[in-house]
Amino acid sequence: MGVALVIGLVGAPKALAFDGFGDAAADSTYDVEIRFEIELQGGAPDRLELLMRTPFTETSFVTPVEPDGDAAAYVWDTSIEHATPNTLVSYQWRATVGDEVVLSPEETIRYEDDRDGLDWQQAQLGEATVHWYGDAEAQARRFGELTAVGVGQAEDLSGTRLAGPVDVFVYDSREDFFGALGPGAREWTGAAAYPELRTIFMWLGGGSPEYLEVAMVHEVTHIVFFDATDNAFHEPARWLNEGIATWSETDDAGDQRGIVQFEASGAGLFSFDAISEQFPIGERGGQLSYAQGTTMVDLVIDRYGREAIARIAAAYREGASDAEALEAGTGLGVDELYADFYAEFGVDPPEPIAAEPIAPSNVDRPAAGEIDAGGVVGGPEAPPDSAPGERPGEDGGRAMPPLLLLVLAGLAAIGGVVWVARRGRRRSA
Ligand SMILES: [Zn+2]
Repeated sequence: MGVALVIGLVGAPKALAFDGFGDAAADSTYDVEIRFEIELQGGAPDRLELLMRTPFTETSFVTPVEPDGDAAAYVWDTSIEHATPNTLVSYQWRATVGDEVVLSPEETIRYEDDRDGLDWQQAQLGEATVHWYGDAEAQARRFGELTAVGVGQAEDLSGTRLAGPVDVFVYDSREDFFGALGPGAREWTGAAAYPELRTIFMWLGGGSPEYLEVAMVHEVTHIVFFDATDNAFHEPARWLNEGIATWSETDDAGDQRGIVQFEASGAGLFSFDAISEQFPIGERGGQLSYAQGTTMVDLVIDRYGREAIARIAAAYREGASDAEALEAGTGLGVDELYADFYAEFGVDPPEPIAAEPIAPSNVDRPAAGEIDAGGVVGGPEAPPDSAPGERPGEDGGRAMPPLLLLVLAGLAAIGGVVWVARRGRRRSA
């Protein structure tokens, strides 16, 4: 009797405790939110977390979620944390009860661009699914045909096959297009590829019909090259990626060679190491980066054959560095290859520029003891790593000069843009 009572007491709270996951659901509204919901059978676990992952990310984003009785919800505020349309988000709920961990089955939600007025229609053309709204069907179908052309060329060049289907979204208005690309998009972008999403965005106002057709081939080449070089270690040099995509537009360096020639006799050329990660933001720097990449690809193909590109891609797949991949393709040490490039334009390879030494501070600092309760910014008593803005009470009751406020607001805006750009996913223009 006594024993039965004890068992009953131990067992009784279990009836109210977490006993497994019920139905999971997810829904999204573009530029507003992605909402995840879960039923908790029997009540809340000790700890509840949501695990989210986007394509080609190695790790999950884990967030604790506070249950509300026998259910829980988490909202990803995409008005702040931008997500690119057509992103397939994988998610799983994780409950911990004591030492026991329970995972819900992994599910996915595709984050669709469902803004008002975008009555998407779609058609399948070979490997491409083209999406359009309004009366852009003819252009969309043409982009689908060009996808096949671009894929065929790029497969031939890289010696690999496209790894999966591609989505092409055709936007009519500038506002719709840049609303899809999100913060950080460059103003001159008329087309953009997100290889890890296998998605291309086109803007019909981005240029003439001829320009858009060339851009379509360029963007789909990025996706084939992404597949051809896929590895767990690093991305291929940006100049090479853009060089191959631009070269593929016309199967030669086209007018890119003239840009390099012009700059070689003027302000000078870039080091390839300087354009392996990012291109300069300015128009001249951006143009020259594309032009050098395209012209170098042309040189490699001209001297070592198209197979050189396939050898370079194969080396990347094995995890080669940029230098190792270029050497695998050409048989030349990378410095020699670079030197040959500059020699073709009659210039010496660029030399690194030494950093200017940082001069001693020329800011007048108040002597010790001068800081009153009102709090003067800076001074010897400030902790060594505290920024002025972090000091409590610093601007209490004081009016900040309007100009300073403007400067601070500007800095905050720049900081915000940089932050957003750093969090943005990879995009190839
Ligand atoms: Zn590109």
